Amino acid sequence: MSFEGGRLRASERASGGELLVEADVVVIGAGAGGCAAAAALAESGLSVALLEEGRHWEPADFQPRTTFALKHLYQARGARTLRGNAVIPLPGGRGVGGSTLINSAICFRCPPEVLRAWRDDHGCDALTDERFEAYFDRIWQTLGVGVNPVEVQRNNNLIFKKGAEQLGLKGAFLARSAPGCQGCGICQYGCPSGGKFSADRTFLSQALATGRVAAWSDCRVRSATRHGDRVTEVSGDVLDPETQEVVGHVRARADTFVLAGGPIQSPLFLLANRFADHTHCGEHLVVHPTVGSLARFPWPIEFWRGVTQGYYVDCWDQGFLLQTYTTTPDQTYLTLHTRLGQETMEVMSDLASLASAGTLVHDEDSHGAVRHTPIGPDLSYWLGEGDKRRIIDGMRLCAKVFFAAGATEVFPGRIGIDRIRSPEEIEGALPYDLDPSVLMLYASHPMGTCRMGADPATSVVDPHGRVWGMANLRVADASIFPSSLGVNPQVTTMAMGLHVGHAIAGRV
Ligand SMILES: Cc1cc2nc3c(=O)[nH]c(=O)nc-3n(C[C@H](O)[C@H](O)[C@H](O)COP(=O)(O)OP(=O)(O)OC[C@H]3O[C@@H](n4cnc5c(N)ncnc54)[C@H](O)[C@@H]3O)c2cc1C
Ligand code: SF4
Repeated sequence: MSFEGGRLRASERASGGELLVEADVVVIGAGAGGCAAAAALAESGLSVALLEEGRHWEPADFQPRTTFALKHLYQARGARTLRGNAVIPLPGGRGVGGSTLINSAICFRCPPEVLRAWRDDHGCDALTDERFEAYFDRIWQTLGVGVNPVEVQRNNNLIFKKGAEQLGLKGAFLARSAPGCQGCGICQYGCPSGGKFSADRTFLSQALATGRVAAWSDCRVRSATRHGDRVTEVSGDVLDPETQEVVGHVRARADTFVLAGGPIQSPLFLLANRFADHTHCGEHLVVHPTVGSLARFPWPIEFWRGVTQGYYVDCWDQGFLLQTYTTTPDQTYLTLHTRLGQETMEVMSDLASLASAGTLVHDEDSHGAVRHTPIGPDLSYWLGEGDKRRIIDGMRLCAKVFFAAGATEVFPGRIGIDRIRSPEEIEGALPYDLDPSVLMLYASHPMGTCRMGADPATSVVDPHGRVWGMANLRVADASIFPSSLGVNPQVTTMAMGLHVGHAIAGRV
């Protein structure tokens, strides 16, 4: 049978409602890990069928509206949430490109300390500095990573830079995979100018150029057929891209299967199909818990303009980073923690004077899990005391940076204290004994739920991404990180995708 490659739409091709796909390797999920794995596999001479539940996107297709983005580009239409000792929204991407369609393009190499811990504590000897540095170099080149010019950073990033410099903090403009960024501030809606280089426009394009990759949109894989220690086929629904109704059925056959559905879907698939049990699969969820703060300045900032996330303060050694971020006015309204009524009206009417930045914490003592239950997924996260303390350290520092830059008041991202009016009030407003439930937490970096390791008793996949007990099933997404990174994870996820792709092709 001749192999048909390219960007293909299952909803247009499922004749009589049935689609049969065959390749050397089937990859499930076209996000950061899946697209990088597809590139590594195709470049090694293997044919690949990439199955993605969401749509193909062109920059012109994106619409700068929250409702449109949530419906088309977000898992669970943006309603994915963690329960625990706080309620934490956990957005994730959906579509060819995965979360890179909606991410802020921030790029960090995995800290060498983290890679060393993965080797020393988890036996992942294959993750050598030399191999990963080569992957990071390739990713830097493929994604066009660099710092965007000052003209597109605009006030929200520049004001935080000013405050950080006043305090003598270690800060810098963020390296980003958006070489053509125009600073429109809406990365979370999909980049309408094409200035951001998401995985579908980079690694997937490289993979497609080989002629050995078929990237099928509109396919949600649900189940797998197993003979002994081998998967022989996966199958699932073909979806209407507009309504997301089921319009057909897809089956895919291959010698090897790679799961890259992200750290929530991948463990759920393994659990639902009994490839792993709850002992470690779905456990060890880490998310980089984050709290955003707003600050009012006596001059216009217009924080919704400029690079979405352009500047950061590096406190990685203390367990956190500060990063600027933009939101649109409607998103700001939805996340405001002022008292409803006059107070909220007052803040909203002066929106142009607000700036925003957040604290991202390296999870160390929190506990999270993804569980498969008969009535659907159960996602939980319990913020540990140490992580809470680091968040509060970050929130305090964030407020200090804002005041140093000239802010008149800071809205700290905690329920119960609407605003801090001077640096002297910061510690009183943000004591260490706060209950986690009063923190306005947010997370968009799930990791670790199918962790990698040399010991099947303590891990889900081996150091080459192979699911323990299975001969031809691998995982290649952010779920296989053995721990939290403390830095934004897309680059490390792509490196893992390349690593697992090379391992399948016998190049590792
Ligand atoms: C709003 C937001 C902002 C972010 N900003 C940054 C940033 O600036 N820098 C950074 O480094 N990281 C950022 N991240 C995180 C980063 O994008 C992710 O860590 C990374 O994309 C994870 O890659 P992945 O391959 O694990 O999963 P994803 O990229 O999420 O891809 C998984 C894909 O699999 C598909 N899928 C799932 N299940 C199935 C199934 N059963 N069948 C078919 N398809 C399936 C999904 O639809 C999705 O497209 C951000 C994330 C979000 C949500
Ligand atoms: S801020 Fe830059 S990268 Fe983000 S959507 Fe706008 S142009 Fe694209």
